[in-house]
Amino acid sequence: MRELFEAASEAATCTKCRLAEGRTQVVYGVGDPEADLMFIGEGPGFHEDRQGEPFVGAAGQLLNKMFDHIGIERSDVYIANVVKCRPPNNRDPLPEEIEACKPWLEEQIEVIDPKVIATLGRFAGAFILDRPISITRIRGQRFPVDGRIVIPTLHPAAVLRGGETQQALLREDFEAMKAAVNEPRGGLAARPPEQQSEPDGSPTEEQLGLF
Ligand code: SF4
Repeated sequence: MRELFEAASEAATCTKCRLAEGRTQVVYGVGDPEADLMFIGEGPGFHEDRQGEPFVGAAGQLLNKMFDHIGIERSDVYIANVVKCRPPNNRDPLPEEIEACKPWLEEQIEVIDPKVIATLGRFAGAFILDRPISITRIRGQRFPVDGRIVIPTLHPAAVLRGGETQQALLREDFEAMKAAVNEPRGGLAARPPEQQSEPDGSPTEEQLGLF
């Protein structure tokens, strides 16, 4: 398995999909390559494309505030996106773009090997859990995936639009992430009894495939 910087260096010249045409640069990811907690968002926006780092700007500031809330540094985690190049006008990435970019994210997850993956927003949550989701219904819950825990939460940009009520929910979810990270890896598969079924009563999947 190669080092993360080697993968990032190769990704920097990737032209596997047409998002390469409109980008300023590939936004591969940032943070601790051995992080226990990894965040995954949808894709770079305007500021991220310019600066080459995920979650800068107002949404990034809110993430930083949440890191403060649970007493960790931004440099303690790893932050990446489902697609590494900015979609034009911040549209959702297309299926063929996601498919083309998927190997970069798969490799990142394999190399970093985080205990906990936190997905930011409906799109990233649905992608990692591989099914349609209602982010407001499942946010903050734990889903075992390939020996890790996935905790979907709200997208910081949406939280900024939603005000203090939404920020309180985001704080709750970050507290859940911290609790999961602090548990031994072997014990992570166990879910709290109240989360043994979906909110609508349907059974949960014991083990979801990441891709
Ligand atoms: S979005 Fe991903 S697959 Fe497409 S060009 Fe950028 S790095 Fe390559």
